[in-house]
Amino acid sequence: MKRYRVGILGATGTVGQRFVQLLQGHPQFEITELAASERSAGKVYSEACAWKLPGTIPTEVREIVVKPIEPPLDCDIIFSSLPSSVARETEERFARAGYPVISNSSSYRMDADVPLLIAEINHEHLGLIETQRQKRGFGKGFIVTNPNCAVASFAPPLAALERAFGIESAVVTTMQAISGAGYPGVASFDITDNVIPYIAGEEPKVETEAQKILGKFTDGMIVKADFAVSAQCFRINVIDGHTASVRVDLQKQSTLEEVVEAMNSFAGLNLHSSPERFIEVLDEPSRPQPRLDRDNGNGMTITVGRVFPDNVFDYRFVALSHNTVRGAAGSAILNAELLIDKRII
Ligand code: NAP
Repeated sequence: MKRYRVGILGATGTVGQRFVQLLQGHPQFEITELAASERSAGKVYSEACAWKLPGTIPTEVREIVVKPIEPPLDCDIIFSSLPSSVARETEERFARAGYPVISNSSSYRMDADVPLLIAEINHEHLGLIETQRQKRGFGKGFIVTNPNCAVASFAPPLAALERAFGIESAVVTTMQAISGAGYPGVASFDITDNVIPYIAGEEPKVETEAQKILGKFTDGMIVKADFAVSAQCFRINVIDGHTASVRVDLQKQSTLEEVVEAMNSFAGLNLHSSPERFIEVLDEPSRPQPRLDRDNGNGMTITVGRVFPDNVFDYRFVALSHNTVRGAAGSAILNAELLIDKRII
């Protein structure tokens, strides 16, 4: 199997550390570059990074000297986990310099010529890359994004319902983990013994990204799925794992069994990072729960539960995914595997 050298932008952060962890022992990828802010640049990774994942910093990266977020970097692929304030300019510079940029940041997600990719759902959107290269004069480089971490939890079950029955509208309430805010994130004084009904900039993302992901790639562009999402986003006192409570109206009548079957049977992929089950619906009345279910499928499975007919909407359900794995680094790595499989990289 061919091996690719990868560089991580924002390597010292919450998502950057998850990239480092998930890339250990990966058959296709080897970390050759780590980059972060000027606070970290010039230090070895073990000095620059306040490691927050279980275990110690992997030996392979401890002595890598952190670079500034400037091309060129000695790698074939860039994984970006930069704050959106710096991602837009930086990712463009790398794409222009010829690198495939696989980004977790929100900066390009809704740009018409940039794929917003969930590998199992909308790989045909990769057709946008050619348009993007021509429009932006990128040459060999390009940008592919993955969705907001809360959207990653409920877009898959919505995709199953959209394909089987069509969606009229959805109301989503998210309960989002502390690690979703990066490190140090929310002050312990604010989040302990508390629920915060505000996450800056989150609700517009949750209300718009799923329609692009579920859109159709036609004539070189994405025609967004035609349904409305109403969202409220809460920060809760959980370290990892975003939960979404969803109520949905469907276009076609369907039975509860058909709804569950549509989700459970949604096809996964056969790539290194794909889980055995993409979506798994649990019957137990008290699941999914972040502590018990966020690591299902190595953090890549979307766990759904409490699927019931609703008194106001057609159905309601709860969806959960690991925000720094399926909602960030894990999905970006899966997207890179897909791009290689499709010979785009
Ligand atoms: P984080 O923990 O705050 O880490 C930010 C990283 O970016 C650090 O490596 C930091 O380097 C670097 N950085 C910050 N400012 C910089 C600058 N001006 N120039 C260069 N590098 C800079 O944040 P995070 O949670 O990992 O999030 C990173 C991105 O992923 C964000 O766009 C976020 O929205 C997105 N995302 C996060 C999650 C999640 O669950 N956390 C999920 C999906 C997407 P230093 O250590 O040197 O400061």
